[in-house]
Amino acid sequence: MIEYRGLPLTIKMNPRARRVLVKLVPGQGLEVVVPKRFDAGLVPELLDGKRAWIDRTRARMEACGVDLSGRLPDLPETINFQAVERTYRVDYLDQIGRVSVVGNGGRLMVRGPIEDQGAILESLQRFAAVKAREILLPLLDDMSCRLAMPYASMRVRRQKTRWGSCSARGTISLNAKLLFLPGELVSHLLLHELCHTRHLNHSAKYWALVARIEPDFMRLEEELKRGSHHVPSWFV
Ligand SMILES: [Zn+2]
Repeated sequence: MIEYRGLPLTIKMNPRARRVLVKLVPGQGLEVVVPKRFDAGLVPELLDGKRAWIDRTRARMEACGVDLSGRLPDLPETINFQAVERTYRVDYLDQIGRVSVVGNGGRLMVRGPIEDQGAILESLQRFAAVKAREILLPLLDDMSCRLAMPYASMRVRRQKTRWGSCSARGTISLNAKLLFLPGELVSHLLLHELCHTRHLNHSAKYWALVARIEPDFMRLEEELKRGSHHVPSWFV
């Protein structure tokens, strides 16, 4: 693997590229796209010229929890679903065959070939995604009943940027990563989406409705925007 100032560096040739393009790619590091017949030996010098931009962008991305090292995240020793204050201690049993994840009380047993970190991470992610639906659906139902704001259907996905959304048909989509957020932020996100069943926009009327139910909504909205630091690297 080649590196540039500690970042994995990938050089890609694109015959249609007119000029050199430098990108920071989450999970991969630095990517340089060069036109045909470009002399790859010039790349280090070119990157030196963009060093200020690279450092600035890298710092901003890493502050948001984006991994640019290209390494797989470490396997977690504990998993904390902060939304419902549930913590699992994770035990790993190294054995051949398919990976399995079994939860029992506050313990999680992961069996499988430990050297296959990618497969183990995927199984843990699947486990958390299933739990997300199991945990978030009753919370949403409960709040929907309390506020008398019915919704049509609900789905849970692991999304990159949004915590949730509400469609014109009343389908509420929730980000599985909400599991890792403090309960008050999850409640607020549910409230935010349920209020969209009345107003499908962020108009003054919409915010007035939110404010009637949650007077502290401005602080909670701000904290939600910065909420991704609660999500562990193995689930980002
Ligand atoms: Zn909204």
